[in-house]
Amino acid sequence: MSLLRPLRLLLISPPGGGKGTVSSKLLKEYQSITSISSGDLLRNEIRSKTDVGQLASKIIQEGGLLPDDIVSNIVIKELKSRNLLNNKNSWLLDGFPRTLNQAKVLHQDLFKYDSTINLVVELKVPEKVILERIENRWVHIPSGRIYNLQYNPPKITGKDDVTGEQLSKRPDDNTDVFLKRLEAYKETIGPVKEWYDQQGVLDSVEGETSDIIYPKLLELIKKKFNQ
Ligand code: ATP
Ligand code: MG
Repeated sequence: MSLLRPLRLLLISPPGGGKGTVSSKLLKEYQSITSISSGDLLRNEIRSKTDVGQLASKIIQEGGLLPDDIVSNIVIKELKSRNLLNNKNSWLLDGFPRTLNQAKVLHQDLFKYDSTINLVVELKVPEKVILERIENRWVHIPSGRIYNLQYNPPKITGKDDVTGEQLSKRPDDNTDVFLKRLEAYKETIGPVKEWYDQQGVLDSVEGETSDIIYPKLLELIKKKFNQ
């Protein structure tokens, strides 16, 4: 499948709302899309034991949010290093921006390159469903690949399908921390949605699982970017 014009997509959802799962499905459908996940970038910093990684490790385990300037720097640096700051490429952002300040800082940079975000989709998933899901989630940290024991289990228990490496639990995927992450999400996301709504790019899809949400998202993208 190919896009008729560049897609610059932001996925918004509560924690565990399926941004990562839906992103990898989209990447398979449209090979021209690149995805950047702020959570994955931070987990890479942790693995590389950088200063940012040390701070991220502490904050992530507590279910808090990293300071805006730190996350903004990391993601914008990534956009630059992958040559995505232009009006030709298609990409999607997962987990960033998630505060109004982050949205504004990113906008300044994107605006210079005529490449502002042209679609924001909120994935609406009921809270009780995501709480259950978090407990069933396993990840391959180096790649960010996500498995769910119920919906999309790995081919071999406990191993990543692609590399065969060990899967692990995220330290923030337990009920206590999850509730804090959910709280942080609710506190910051309202103004972000409002800001993108004012720009006329906000949309949403609803469902209990990514299998229900993904086809709806795909339809939305096709409608706006394929014709
Ligand atoms: P999920 O990955 O399940 O959708 P999530 O969106 O809460 O849930 P990640 O995006 O992987 O999780 O982020 C994990 C943690 O990294 C967050 O709880 C937060 O501490 C930190 N983080 C990620 N993105 C940002 C951001 N844009 N601003 C501040 N902190 C962030
Ligand atoms: Mg994620």
